[in-house]
Amino acid sequence: MAQIIDGKKIAANVKAEVRAEVEKLRAAGKNPGLAVVLVGNNPASRVYVSNKEKDCAECGFRSYEYALPEETTEAELLELIDRLNADSSVNGILVQLPLPKQICEQTVLHAISPAKDVDAFHPENVGRIMIGDFQFLPCTPAGVIEMLDASGIEIAGKHCVVIGRSNIVGKPMAMLLLHRSGTVTICHSRTKDLAAQTRQADILVAAVGKAGFVTADMVKEGAVVIDVGMNRDAAGKLCGDVCYEEVAAKASAITPVPGGVGPMTRAILMRNTLTAARNAAE
Ligand code: NAP
Repeated sequence: MAQIIDGKKIAANVKAEVRAEVEKLRAAGKNPGLAVVLVGNNPASRVYVSNKEKDCAECGFRSYEYALPEETTEAELLELIDRLNADSSVNGILVQLPLPKQICEQTVLHAISPAKDVDAFHPENVGRIMIGDFQFLPCTPAGVIEMLDASGIEIAGKHCVVIGRSNIVGKPMAMLLLHRSGTVTICHSRTKDLAAQTRQADILVAAVGKAGFVTADMVKEGAVVIDVGMNRDAAGKLCGDVCYEEVAAKASAITPVPGGVGPMTRAILMRNTLTAARNAAE
């Protein structure tokens, strides 16, 4: 049976480390804070935002919530971002996605100061990730790396297969694995004979967004399987991309959903907020 990689526990350790560092900043008279901007009434987004506020409280950050109505214009949102960019009490700015259709996400994300871009979505930070000279970690991929490290799983020299090529997960995931000297294959919806690719993986990362997508026949015996997916099954229960039971019987280590990558994404956001606050304090 596979080792179950406990994302909740590893995330709690990361947050405890962040908290200890935040306490030092506070003792030095700093009061670091994260601004979270939510536009509209998406119930899932609301849950994500309230979780981020809880994490801030746990780590000792101040959190500033800006809940704007669904009909907010792009100009209004950009005006708020400008204000937050200029506000020295705000170290990190996070705009919860998705945004309503009248607002261009790219325009908004590009307007956030790269120094406060704790999601690492600004092109300057994305470019830095590409060249391996980055301060802000892409939250979900960095959470995956942290889990592998905390579980004593070596990346260097391993064949890592990432299913998914989104800007938020797949691409930066592949880049971080490459920086750690994995041999990386990126798969997507146009990949031919996907299972032949995934069966090569020593470390398989699924970031597809389809429940039950990765089945046991797609996984090599003894592989490490990381499930980034966050989906709802037919009964409305949260589940990943991986058929957990059958894959766990074949893998050497696996992440559950819930309790796997999700908590790690949140913990790395806190670490990025700490990085922003330290930089501002220098
Ligand atoms: P996305 O932008 O929809 O990307 C999905 C990727 O999967 C695309 O690259 C797509 O390929 C690929 N794909 C779709 N169908 C496929 C198929 N049949 N065969 C091979 N590849 C296929 O999604 P995302 O934002 O990366 O998120 C992926 C999943 O991770 C979602 O469930 C999301 O909710 C979850 N997520 C979780 C966390 C967390 O903290 N746990 C954070 C972020 C996202 P094409 O590019 O060719 O279309």
